[in-house]
Amino acid sequence: MLYQAAMDLNVKVRILTGDANSAAAQVCPDYVVDDWNNETALRRFATGCEVVTFDHELVDTRVLRSVEAGRCTLRPAASSMQKVLDKASQRRLVRELHMPTPDYLLASDRDALQAAVLRFGYPAVMKATRGGYDGRGVHVLSGDEDLNAWSDLPSEWLVEPLLPIERELAVQVVRGVDGELRTYPVVETYQSGGICRSVVAPAIVPPELADTVRRFAEAIAESCGIVGVLAVEFFVVGGELMVNELAPRVHNTAHYTVEACAVSQFENHVRAVLGWPLGPTDLVVPAAVMTNVIAGPDPLRPLSEIRPFPPVRVHLYGKQTRAGRKVGHVTACGDDAARLRQTADRVAAMLVGESEAVPSGAPSDRSQGVRA
Ligand code: ADP
Repeated sequence: MLYQAAMDLNVKVRILTGDANSAAAQVCPDYVVDDWNNETALRRFATGCEVVTFDHELVDTRVLRSVEAGRCTLRPAASSMQKVLDKASQRRLVRELHMPTPDYLLASDRDALQAAVLRFGYPAVMKATRGGYDGRGVHVLSGDEDLNAWSDLPSEWLVEPLLPIERELAVQVVRGVDGELRTYPVVETYQSGGICRSVVAPAIVPPELADTVRRFAEAIAESCGIVGVLAVEFFVVGGELMVNELAPRVHNTAHYTVEACAVSQFENHVRAVLGWPLGPTDLVVPAAVMTNVIAGPDPLRPLSEIRPFPPVRVHLYGKQTRAGRKVGHVTACGDDAARLRQTADRVAAMLVGESEAVPSGAPSDRSQGVRA
């Protein structure tokens, strides 16, 4: 999606991917298959690029720093990436900025895990500080049996209480090379099994809460000197806002911006990393809902059977389907967020073969496609 935005801006893109079958390599003809955590490989790739940016954070900051020292321009810079790369440094940064986060402890061995559980009690949540996403690397410890399953810890974990979360919110900030900041609308996210299922824009929250969300995200973006998009995810617990997680990249919670905002997160990320002026981040529709297409056990149904048309848009990433994997998303724009959500959820369910029905309000004749 970043590549597609760059194409629209007439920017030439070369992609470094670990897999020739990756979604990016399927759309971008100029790709290199190599290891981005190998210094020589990354430097070789970066040579000849005006600027290098990232669409994930599974990178090694030592490698980034050394490539930067070799005069390659990385945006965000290695120093910014380092501050937000893993869950432990993210929480440190947020605490330094005196923003509320869940109470947590870090554990790198079994004794530390036990001490953390003793402090918070059951149920507790343990999260791998690196490499986890979409709930992978997040485990709930409900009792001694769960704790005893961990005789040894393979890496560092962040341990915190299982919170009675009322709502989850997210926002994305884009920051330019000159420090210009633009912030997308605050959105509400709906998760199940640790995976984001749907995003509703804008979140219907009191204006003061939305202001605080934006203010926190902008302060975080400033403090780490990010260039490009930074996503910030929040919990609301007992009416109080807490920062949960940061991501220094374009983010799933802003995929809706392609159809629903004046300039998408992808275009603004490209603009930011190239040092161009940023575009407006306002919604151009009253409401939008994005629902992820999360693969089930079967292959996806062909889109030609569902035939969606605007205001429903389907994006499929060309990824191998594997149960639980995000393989695409559906965006619906219109007036009534509740109805849009029903529609987007239903289309996503149809794609994975979980729903046969045409969404309510749509014509019963499938040949006419799916409407919002
Ligand atoms: P990741 O996105 O890296 O998998 P998160 O910290 O965002 O990890 O956790 C994924 C989801 O799990 C969250 O969106 C939330 O729904 C749930 N979750 C995470 N931490 C807690 C917690 N302390 N208490 C309750 N639910 C949690």
